[in-house]
Amino acid sequence: MVLDNLGSSLRGTLNDLRGKSRISEEDVEGVVKEIQRSLIQADVDIALVQDLSDSIEGRALDEEPPAGTSARDWVLRIVYEELVELLGESTDLPLENQTILLAGLYGSGKTTTAAKMAWWFSKKGLRPAVIQTDTDRPGAYDQAKQMADNAEVDFYGDPDENDPVKIAMEGLEETADADVRIVDTAGRDGLNEDLIDQIERIETAVDPDRNLLVLDAAMGQSAKDQAQEFERAIGIDGVAITKLDGTAKGGGALAAVNETDSTIAFLGTGETVKDIERFESSSFVSRLLGMGDIDQLAERVERAMEEAQEEDEDWDPEDMLEGKFTLRDMKKQMDAMNRMGPLDQVMDMIPGMGGGMMDQLPDDAMDMTEERMRDFEVVMDSMTEEELENPRIIGASRTKRIARGSGKPEERIRELLQQHKMMDQTLQQFQGMGDADMERMMQQMQQ
Ligand code: GDP
Repeated sequence: MVLDNLGSSLRGTLNDLRGKSRISEEDVEGVVKEIQRSLIQADVDIALVQDLSDSIEGRALDEEPPAGTSARDWVLRIVYEELVELLGESTDLPLENQTILLAGLYGSGKTTTAAKMAWWFSKKGLRPAVIQTDTDRPGAYDQAKQMADNAEVDFYGDPDENDPVKIAMEGLEETADADVRIVDTAGRDGLNEDLIDQIERIETAVDPDRNLLVLDAAMGQSAKDQAQEFERAIGIDGVAITKLDGTAKGGGALAAVNETDSTIAFLGTGETVKDIERFESSSFVSRLLGMGDIDQLAERVERAMEEAQEEDEDWDPEDMLEGKFTLRDMKKQMDAMNRMGPLDQVMDMIPGMGGGMMDQLPDDAMDMTEERMRDFEVVMDSMTEEELENPRIIGASRTKRIARGSGKPEERIRELLQQHKMMDQTLQQFQGMGDADMERMMQQMQQ
């Protein structure tokens, strides 16, 4: 993820400040150096890096920390505020009727982003449609249609028509019922007059409310030149940065944002239609600094639970709150976890468990957890309804049978039962808690 290195190295440096009540010039220099190094590694423009470090240094030394604030918290806060400032507000995107045009080079992720954005709007209760106007790339139509199907959104394209402007106009008419129309355009291997000319013609015909530039996070400094060209041709309102799951860079995209005086609208973090996030600088920076991101997490959990419930109408998560926690509930929770995305991304959003904790875990520990979860699912598939509802009845002979049925060692079944018991006990504790206890616990987690 972009600036990931910054997150982990900075946490290390900040932890050295733990217990100190005053910050020395040396401390501040250490922090600033760390920030500079990470930003430059992530391809961030040198001038931007210099501005940022000057502001952090100046504030940390000149401003007086509020009484009772530790040196670490004070510096963390300044770094947080300055990074939020650097990344800026997210692109204004009201949830209303609109047409959005996507521009960008070939392979930047436009087609994928069009479907992802449509999916995102559909989850906000709007009816989106994707209009595919790429007539140059063979297969663009099929790919776009397939992704729109995956996102379960309306789609318009015409593989037999060669004029993208015609397709766009026809598409707008055909999708008149939709609230949000996302118009995908062709890209080229590099910027050239043909591409610019074509996108200008589409832009003039479609007259979109917003033009978004799609940029691959790994692109580096050339992103800046591209951004300039598109800005000159059609005007850029916001940027969608893709493939953040595959790179620790992304600084080039920041330079592009700066260059076009625009903002970041979306982040792409994977290949499926659900791997999209609305960019929010405050939550992005919180996560980066290991402060967690409750809002994103809550949204993902809610969505995953809704989907789990849609699939199995007999299952009601509310039952858990009444004190009955069965293996079936646990299975549903695991399904929901899987739906939320890779475990490490989810963990990053939990306060106190952000990057800091994950950095300490060896990579294979994480795989182990995911592998174990998969094993647990297989094991549960070999259980009877009765066993799922009432795991207490699973003794030695049932364990043997389930092991045989699932092809997993008996040890796994015992681990699963142990895990269930632990979760059950935790849940019982939550029930005994008042709101004040909960709040205290959350606060502790955030420290
Ligand atoms: P286009 O030519 O700009 O329309 O780009 P595509 O949407 O076809 O994307 C090019 C490739 O990048 C495809 O293989 C996509 O699956 C992949 N891709 C797009 N966005 C992401 C992302 O956020 N993460 C990852 N890992 N791959 C992505």
